[in-house]
Amino acid sequence: MQFSELAAVFEKLEGTASRLEMTAILAALFTKMDRGEAERIVYLCQGSIAPAYEGIDLGVGEKFVIEAIALSSGQTRPNVEREYKRMGDLGLVAEKLLQKKAQMSLCTSELTVAKVFESFLRLAKLSGHGSQEGKIKSVAELLNNASVLEAKYIVRFTLGKLRLGVGDPTILDALSTYKAGDKSLRVKIERAYNLCSDLGYVARMFFEGGEVAVEKFKPAPLKPIRPALAERLPTAEEIYEKIAKNSEQKEVTVEAKYDGLRMQVHKTGKQVEIFSRKLERMTKMFPEIVQAALEINAKEFILEGEALAYSVKEKRYFSFQQTIQRKRKYGVEAMSKEFPLRLFAFDVLYLDGKDYTQIEYAKRRETLEQLVKKNKTIVASDQIIATNAAQVEKYFQKCIAEGLEGIIAKDMAAPYVAGARKFAWIKLKKSYGAMVDTVDVVICGYYLGKGAREEFKFGGLLGAVLNEDTGNFETIARIGGGFTEEEMVNFEEMLEKIKTKEKPKKLLSDVVPDFWTELKYVITVASDEITLSPMHTCGRVGDTGYALRFPRMVSLRDDKGPEDATTTNEIIEMYEMQRKGK
Ligand code: ATP
Repeated sequence: MQFSELAAVFEKLEGTASRLEMTAILAALFTKMDRGEAERIVYLCQGSIAPAYEGIDLGVGEKFVIEAIALSSGQTRPNVEREYKRMGDLGLVAEKLLQKKAQMSLCTSELTVAKVFESFLRLAKLSGHGSQEGKIKSVAELLNNASVLEAKYIVRFTLGKLRLGVGDPTILDALSTYKAGDKSLRVKIERAYNLCSDLGYVARMFFEGGEVAVEKFKPAPLKPIRPALAERLPTAEEIYEKIAKNSEQKEVTVEAKYDGLRMQVHKTGKQVEIFSRKLERMTKMFPEIVQAALEINAKEFILEGEALAYSVKEKRYFSFQQTIQRKRKYGVEAMSKEFPLRLFAFDVLYLDGKDYTQIEYAKRRETLEQLVKKNKTIVASDQIIATNAAQVEKYFQKCIAEGLEGIIAKDMAAPYVAGARKFAWIKLKKSYGAMVDTVDVVICGYYLGKGAREEFKFGGLLGAVLNEDTGNFETIARIGGGFTEEEMVNFEEMLEKIKTKEKPKKLLSDVVPDFWTELKYVITVASDEITLSPMHTCGRVGDTGYALRFPRMVSLRDDKGPEDATTTNEIIEMYEMQRKGK
């Protein structure tokens, strides 16, 4: 496919906010693809050249792109910089400045999707001494061969700022629509995606082997599985009733809810990889977990657990603050001695060629216990089997008394529901007043300080939740409190880097903050209650949406991305629970 065709599709996608329309545009694009192009085109639509868990960054900063535009357009660097200041988007700058040159030279584009993709791959691989020169040259070369429209998207892509507003759910819908004419295949394709977190790879399998290929899909070591998530209910009683009805013996498994670092540990032969909740590779940070995984007697496995820093000598857990100190790139060895981790394994998803995600939890647990029996670092999570609600409540109180976060009750008959929040797992946390839980919001804008805070430029945040049905983000709170002075300084620095001139395309907001930001960071917010409000767009029907009353920042959640924020549906459920509790 010519790259110009893809650029034209990007332009169309950018011009619409309707998810239906985006789905139709993408489905039409898929019909034009050559065999073998699916993987690359899907990655490009995601604004990347590989699945997110590979963590590949083209590593080209604004400065280099400015240089490349100057080289290619024949303009001086200050000229390019001036235009950038004025337009605020280097993609638009490239489009404008290269227009002048195009008119002079009548050049036409010869770029194919394959060529552009290869160039991006080469860019990502360039590193070390002299690589900056190489990167500038590569981008300039691409721009020399590009039409103005192509240049706009090449520049934005290179900077990691494609911002088409297309999320993974839209791509999944489009793949289904392309083949079936509607969304009927979405569930099957999504299952495959949830089992490998690689949408390009799934698209390739789907294009090559059709429906059968995605149906037969099973997990494989080194490809992270999208994590199962827990629902909430307000009382031990409701939790017991909800799950026990699926069990002939009226039995419910109840586990301690550890508050540490969620890990998915993969092993194949002598290779171990550890993925975070956000599915980022963290292997190098946790040598003792790698060592423990190597000692487990199985050739291949994928297991999941929550890791806590644990003092073997004092026989006690360190605090969450101490545990998260282990998330670091440097000083790993010393830290692993000071705060050694213990992984509380709570699930096994794959073992020696067999997909365990389809198997009921009771059996998975048995296998897991066998697997970690002799290990001292990876141990099975604590659990009881409850046969009535009072036992659930008692165990909950015991966990809280031990300083844990609460409990997670599990349905013994349920499979592992990758990538979804289902009632197979239900959590109950220690009380947050009227609220059953804290809320994780995406920062979408910020305010400048007033009054006493004037010495800091930072004065508060605008937070949004994710509407899973539309893929949009909806505002729910202006968070003005709960920040330490250090956090305020950090936010000022962090947010300055991602502020944008315009409201993000996927954000619905009537509130206008002093600055908009890219949707990147997630924070945990506590509040007194959820109220109905005309201000915010969360779950809005008519003039009324949902808002948080007296919201205050608890912590930055860097193990979550925007797609992992609390959803609008969860807010509505929490509101209903709160109403019933009153
Ligand atoms: P939270 O903010 O409550 O941690 P979350 O959005 O990260 O929630 P949830 O699905 O709501 O995720 O809660 C499940 C989380 O609890 C898991 O991500 C996991 O990290 C943690 N956890 C701790 N102990 C267990 C356990 N025994 N079984 C399953 N998950 C556990």
